[in-house]
This record gives sequence, structure tokens and C-alpha cells, in this order.
Amino acid sequence: MAVHEFGIVQRLMDTVRRKAEESGVERVKRIRVVLGKLAEVSAESLNFAYTSLAPHDKMFSEAELDIDERDAAVRCKACGAETAIAEPVATCPRCGGGPLEVTRGRELFVDFFEGE
Ligand SMILES: [Zn+2]
Repeated sequence: MAVHEFGIVQRLMDTVRRKAEESGVERVKRIRVVLGKLAEVSAESLNFAYTSLAPHDKMFSEAELDIDERDAAVRCKACGAETAIAEPVATCPRCGGGPLEVTRGRELFVDFFEGE
């Protein structure tokens, strides 16, 4: 397990903490994170890192992490086709060429959180 996803989760938690403090929330109950299938971390890794970190943090010890996984898509610069993909691809599914540009699927951000 790399340290990488712990840093990512820490960053997400810091973002929520800042906003929670601004709005007077002391205990976060739920966090919704949008995660594209081509983001730098998988849902599984994100969950693992979160369940390792959150219980030790008073603000997050009761907060559930809810991951909204979004599909990815690439656009081919050779034929112009935009194709939805479930996994990273090296060549265009339509024409077998490229280069490809990722148009969707790299999202990683806090959608919203709930707390009191
Ligand atoms: Zn193509």
C-alpha cells in the first residue's frame, strides 16, 4: 500500500475540515466524493486510506465516506470519436489509432458533506 492515497485522503479531509469549521460543523457525518475511473487513485484505495485515517480524527470518527464513481471517456485525435471506457486504453476503440485525450474520468473532489 503506497503512501500516495493517504496523502490524497488527507487533502480531502483538510478541505472538508476547512469548510466545516467555516460553517460551525464540529462532527462530520457523511462525505460524498466524486471519483472518476481514471483518477489517480481507485475507490478501493480511497476507502482503505479513509478507514485508516478517519477513526483517529475527532471530526471524522463518525463520518461515512460515500464514493460516487464516474465513468471515463476518451476522444481520439485521429478519427474524432469519443468513447466511454471502463478502464484505461492505449488506442482508440473505434479506429485503433490515436493519440487519445481524456475527456472525462479524472475527477476527484468533495461533492458535499453533512455534519452537525
Ligand atoms: Zn479513433
